[in-house]
Amino acid sequence: MAAATPPVKPDAGQWKKNLSHHMICPECKEIPPNLEFPDSHETVCGSCGLVLSDREVDMHSEWRTFSNDDQNNDDPSRVGDAANPLLNGGQLETQIASGGTGRDRDLYRAQNKQSSDKSNKALLAAYKEIGALCDGFNIQRNVADTAKFLFKVVDDAKAFKGKSQDVIIAGCIFIACRQCKVPRTFTEIFAVTKVTRKEIGRIYKALEKFFTSQNVERHNTVVSSGGVPDPHDTYTATVSTKPSDLCNRFCNLLDLPYQVTSVSSSLSDRVTAMGDLAGRSPLSIVAACIYMASYLMGYGKSAKEISQVVSVSDGTIRGAYKQLFAERERLIDPEWIKDGKGDLKKLPAS
Ligand SMILES: [Zn+2]
Repeated sequence: MAAATPPVKPDAGQWKKNLSHHMICPECKEIPPNLEFPDSHETVCGSCGLVLSDREVDMHSEWRTFSNDDQNNDDPSRVGDAANPLLNGGQLETQIASGGTGRDRDLYRAQNKQSSDKSNKALLAAYKEIGALCDGFNIQRNVADTAKFLFKVVDDAKAFKGKSQDVIIAGCIFIACRQCKVPRTFTEIFAVTKVTRKEIGRIYKALEKFFTSQNVERHNTVVSSGGVPDPHDTYTATVSTKPSDLCNRFCNLLDLPYQVTSVSSSLSDRVTAMGDLAGRSPLSIVAACIYMASYLMGYGKSAKEISQVVSVSDGTIRGAYKQLFAERERLIDPEWIKDGKGDLKKLPAS
């Protein structure tokens, strides 16, 4: 049995080019018309220059440049900017410009009411603050980026809701400094963020615990789903700052030469290991060691000068130094001062 073929219906709605219409110039009435397409989006009579049609669809390719520096548009690229991992979503949404009137303004307001990019706005504000604070510090950009990343982890988990954002930012910067191996003291963080030392200490402990638990959780999810965890994708708890880590920076700020820097950091390691000055803060140890090393190597700095850089009172420095001075024969390695590089006799008694 053969299937009946359905009758072919003429499609009434189908578009067909009307070949009996053609465009001629109403002035010259030339046939065939002398048409020109100078900019591809308009048609011009080639004989008299009359524009016969404008606002035609531009069939040119729309190469655009997204590179940072404008290289005279010789870097055509059909892709947009790279996605920013610090923001939520793929950043592929359309933004409606502000400052319009009528419908434009209504659209702008409607978009603003959407909650989807509110979180990004809050994040951007926080990042801006982190960036500004880190600029005030004069530290490398990787510290600011690390702090931003840490802040996003906290924000994503919606943790520490009761804490003020400034405190969390201060804690993130403190941890970021340690992770990037440019440790800063609580006092220094306080100087730029205006978050008290006590509060920074508290948030630091809480954040450290939070990041570690987050990491264990992520690790377990990967393992339980049969995957192999990425060994680089871990949060390593920061180690407490050793006095010798701080010597480099403080000696630099005091304009002390390399010999003093190296002796003071060796001395502070030795003092810490031998338990002299036990019970004193790492900052006092650093300050006393720099004081001793600077005189030992013949570049003496007063306790007052050191106290301004290290933010420890000069009385504390002198008190700690007195203890070191009493034990100078044992603490100072003859290696450091051999060949007249330094002299024990140059050490002041207080
Ligand atoms: Zn014409």
